[in-house]
Amino acid sequence: MKNDRSAIRDKQRIVVKIGSSSLQHAQTGDLDYIRLDVLVRELCNLRNQGKDVVLVTSGAIAQGRKAVHLKPDGKENPIAVKQACAAIGQARLMMTYQKIFAEYNQVAAQILMTRHTVDDEMNRTNAQNTFEELFRMGVIPIVNENDTVATHEIEIGDNDTLSAVVASMIRADLLILLSDIDGLYTDDPRANPEAVFVETVEHLDDSLMRMGKGSTGSNVGTGGMYTKLGAARIATSSGADMIIANSSDIRILHRIMDGRNFGTLFVANRDESFSLSAFLNAMHEQKG
Ligand code: GLU
Repeated sequence: MKNDRSAIRDKQRIVVKIGSSSLQHAQTGDLDYIRLDVLVRELCNLRNQGKDVVLVTSGAIAQGRKAVHLKPDGKENPIAVKQACAAIGQARLMMTYQKIFAEYNQVAAQILMTRHTVDDEMNRTNAQNTFEELFRMGVIPIVNENDTVATHEIEIGDNDTLSAVVASMIRADLLILLSDIDGLYTDDPRANPEAVFVETVEHLDDSLMRMGKGSTGSNVGTGGMYTKLGAARIATSSGADMIIANSSDIRILHRIMDGRNFGTLFVANRDESFSLSAFLNAMHEQKG
């Protein structure tokens, strides 16, 4: 049956991605501790069910900017300022995560990646071994891009893509993108009231890829529907289901894991000929 999500309950290795705008108060840009707490509690609860769990989190640059009182969008800032902000914000973000994970008696670790982690075989193998060892230890890895050293040439560029890359590298069977929208619509629902919600995508064809629009309407993250559909292509081709769901209530995570019908499900469709590096190159070229 098309909308039967009961198989989601059996997923064993799950990557959850949360965007900057979902972690902070819109009015001030400060961290929303209640949402962070719920997120961490949900992840620990999945871990307590014996599942392997990874968190891909944004927010480093936004929190860094906040710490040194720069404007939130920072479009006019030179790249070095962005990288300095990432260095400040990543440490602060991890400090907060570590504190909350510790409250739930859960050990967490940090993994920072760049394109090298995908393209360079030795780098990739090392990262994969690290993930495997952390899972064996019962640890939850927290992943972000290494924005402090990742210049345009070696960046993955956005955390939707990064989370799908992680899902592919560790052979996860589910990727959940927590976002500020309910999932995929046939058009931008903020601009077009006729837009229809899509519950399930069985095949991610080119016409669907074109449905992606450039922006989420938030000015803190770098993801839009386009990057989410790119992530879906990576995840599903690598054998993982992917769900886009609204982060307005983060308890949606356990509802999804109960097999209930939330968000848009992109059904896994393993493609042995899929090349992650080639796909990332093509995306990179399109972004310019
Ligand atoms: N890596 C960036 C950060 O942590 C965010 C990228 C994104 O939101 O897609 O600030």
